[in-house]
Amino acid sequence: MGGNMKKILAINAGSSTLKFKLFAMPEETVLTEGKVDRIGKPDAEFTIYVNGEKKRESVTSDSAPEAVNIVLDALVNEGIISHLNEIDGVGHRVVHGGEYFKDSTIINQSVVEKIDELSALAPLHNPANLQGILAFREALPNVMNVAVFDTSFHQTMPPESYLYAVPMDWYRKHHVRKYGFHGISHKYVSQRVQQLLEKPEAKVIVCHLGSGASICAVDGEQSVDTSMGFGPLAGLVMGTRSGDIDATIIPYIVKQTGKSLEEVEYELNYKSGFLGVSEHSNDSRDIEEGIEKGHEGCRLAQNLFNRRVVSYIASYHALLNGADAIAFTAGIGENSPQTRSEVIQALSVFGFKLDEEKNQVYGKERLISSEDSSIPIYVIPTDEEIMIARDVIRFV
Ligand code: ADP
Repeated sequence: MGGNMKKILAINAGSSTLKFKLFAMPEETVLTEGKVDRIGKPDAEFTIYVNGEKKRESVTSDSAPEAVNIVLDALVNEGIISHLNEIDGVGHRVVHGGEYFKDSTIINQSVVEKIDELSALAPLHNPANLQGILAFREALPNVMNVAVFDTSFHQTMPPESYLYAVPMDWYRKHHVRKYGFHGISHKYVSQRVQQLLEKPEAKVIVCHLGSGASICAVDGEQSVDTSMGFGPLAGLVMGTRSGDIDATIIPYIVKQTGKSLEEVEYELNYKSGFLGVSEHSNDSRDIEEGIEKGHEGCRLAQNLFNRRVVSYIASYHALLNGADAIAFTAGIGENSPQTRSEVIQALSVFGFKLDEEKNQVYGKERLISSEDSSIPIYVIPTDEEIMIARDVIRFV
């Protein structure tokens, strides 16, 4: 084995799933990947790829430490590594880094405390991320853990992007500002486009369209604006999230319906978006199928989604004083030629144009614009795990 080869584990710990991917670095070879699903439920399940073959089994996993042990045991038992001490570093995706974390960082006790403190800003995500971190620190006490934040990339935004026009004390005392999310993905995709263009200073509009969705205006290495805000509810229409709405709707609906503030917030997060408008599904595949069958709610939901994407792209094209490229990524961005086509057609005033044959691509990197398009347009499959592994390698 090469003396410089390092084995790095990239971890994404959610409230009920633990996803992992083991890399040999710096080659960036994937040794294995998998996940523990439905942690805390009776039907918890473990999946791991061994020699390219998917293995699945039912497991008992009531907590993050149990899930971590299942993963580590399997790495050894499946012969992927011969001993746990072969793991040189573990990288953790952490959703909220607030204004503290402008870059990835080695995890020590004070970092743990900060991530915990930031749970106030990301109550759905940071506690779960933290549980994963604590479980790995316990299971592998001699291995370096690194936190990679979804917000860090956006810390370069200027105040006129990140401030809301509200009393400044909301920002100074209560940290109300735009943070932005999906930063690991926006960074990966923009760097990949810059590489393809052989132009590291290129200005790129990245459209991360998944069940959560956001758009980012990238200038060289910097995020200059992004569609998500204080939290991940803002911006685009999503699978079940509303995206931007007028804030006065919330007190109005509370008064009209007698629902609690928590219920209304829940409906904005889980009953809105594609699901709320279509009254059919949160999944873009179902929406597309519905459109084909003439389901009006599905057509309407897709139209709202497209309109919002189009207006963010148009606005960021102006903000960047002319982007050099547009990139589509994540579930919908990578796999829906229909969405890409409708969005780009609505932007034809800027000379953006797809080659509809090239646009028939699913989950693969490809230039999809026509030769006479004013700027190139790409599909770039995102890879947050490799970004995490690369950041760990910086510290190991
Ligand atoms: P997240 O990571 O935020 O959960 P994803 O990036 O996996 O989301 O995106 C999920 C969305 O992508 C869903 O709306 C799903 O319908 C859509 N999607 C995934 N695969 C395909 C596909 N092959 N064709 C069309 N849409 C797809």
